[in-house]
Amino acid sequence: SSGSPGIADFLKEELSRRGLSEQVQIFQPGCFGFCERGPMIEIHPDNTTYCEVSVGDVETIVEEHFVKGNQVERLLYKDPITKERFASNLPFYKGQLRIALRNVGFIAPENILEYIAADGYQALVKVLFHMTPLEVIEVIKNSGLRGRGGGGFSTGLKWELTRKSEAEQRYIICNADEGDPGAFMDRSVLEGDPHSVLEAMLIAGSAIGASHGFIYVRAEYPAAIHRLEVAIVQAREYGLLGKGILGSDFCFDIELKYGAGAFVCGEETALIHSIEGARGEPSVKPPFPAQKGLWGKPTCVNNVETLANIPPIILKGADWFAGIGTEKSKGTKVFALAGKVRNVGLVEVPMGTTLREIIFNMGGGIKNHKTFKAAQTGGPSGGCIPAKYLDTPIDYESLAAIGSMMGSGGLIVMDEYDCMVNIAKFFLEFSVDESCGRCTACRVGTKRLHEILTKITEGKGTEDDLDKLVQLGKIVKTSSLCGLGQTAPNPILSTIEYFRDEYLAHIVDKT
Ligand code: SF4
Repeated sequence: SSGSPGIADFLKEELSRRGLSEQVQIFQPGCFGFCERGPMIEIHPDNTTYCEVSVGDVETIVEEHFVKGNQVERLLYKDPITKERFASNLPFYKGQLRIALRNVGFIAPENILEYIAADGYQALVKVLFHMTPLEVIEVIKNSGLRGRGGGGFSTGLKWELTRKSEAEQRYIICNADEGDPGAFMDRSVLEGDPHSVLEAMLIAGSAIGASHGFIYVRAEYPAAIHRLEVAIVQAREYGLLGKGILGSDFCFDIELKYGAGAFVCGEETALIHSIEGARGEPSVKPPFPAQKGLWGKPTCVNNVETLANIPPIILKGADWFAGIGTEKSKGTKVFALAGKVRNVGLVEVPMGTTLREIIFNMGGGIKNHKTFKAAQTGGPSGGCIPAKYLDTPIDYESLAAIGSMMGSGGLIVMDEYDCMVNIAKFFLEFSVDESCGRCTACRVGTKRLHEILTKITEGKGTEDDLDKLVQLGKIVKTSSLCGLGQTAPNPILSTIEYFRDEYLAHIVDKT
């Protein structure tokens, strides 16, 4: 999105024009995470990183760096960004711990050999030849890994429930329908390390007894789709998909399915309906997909980030993973840091890291010397967290306790100039648009909430309207069928609780 592909194309042309194509090999890895300073070019083995490169800089880089052997000072990053970057003192990377993103930005995602060289498919070998399916499930259960798509359900337990459901056919689905505004965690994994998802699906398939997997990916992610397609073809060529995988008796294949952009299709039952060719609407649970899912068969739905954690857990063990994070939330979480922070980008931190550490250390603090006002976690229906909770450790329970949620990893920062009433209205508009309309509480309730909010922002509201918002918000939360409706009022309820004075300012202004 910052124009890297155009820069890479021009760089190839320029190197070719100078007769340097043989000496310089170019590859496009995934995202380094440090979006604020992109596009970046790393030159190896010169230990040189150029950042904020534009097409106009390409000729200079070729002339100065490759022809004359000089570094281009004005584009130079002060510290070389190498695989050891996380051990460096670079504030953006210090404090990060990369498990799901371990290879993203370091390997060429369209070359299976680079993934294999980074211990890729070693966990699959271990599972197929040295462990039983029940042992694999036990390791995942003991690791404490919970669903990273927002649900937070135990991944191992989900696998166990699916395996225990009697059926001739079972399915594993990778939920890659990332739809939160401002969130790009899953896209980064798919674009930068697609084989990690394939390997995890193979492991899950062998553990739950599935021979077929689907990746439900947003059609708006063309680069991710392309890299998945390349990875699937390569995995087939290397005997990692199909019949008798690596000479074992395990057979498994993966198919891509494209989501058409409906946010609600990220909900697992809606996603299953969409794959079946039906309208993408959630259905009542139970039965859970683990009992009766795709075409009525037991189905395990795991999100991209959840799956990306699987191979390292198998290789390093449950205790290693369970040793990271907090008592109930193990491992790390990837956040897409956006909004009014200096360093916008992708960070992966151990569970229990505080919002303050993410926003002020990695994020570099608030842009333009403004003051922090709030952070919204959990996507469009997460709550807005005020400054007094900046030291709250981030985990599933702590965020829920202060009226927000982990969600899939969106983290949007607001400063003193943001109006929290308008922010709540903005996020609610997203939920109104994306409501599938199946249940009245969500379909009608979110519209009424939006009308009241509009009235307030137009200066026509009264204090009674605040009570109505809270009352109706609670009804929508408790009466909606799926997570979309159950969480849609969160931005309103949290902003009324923490920023009531801003609502009153709109109301008082009128009089
Ligand atoms: Fe559809 Fe909203 Fe009901 Fe979910 S809560 S099923 S999105 S109407």
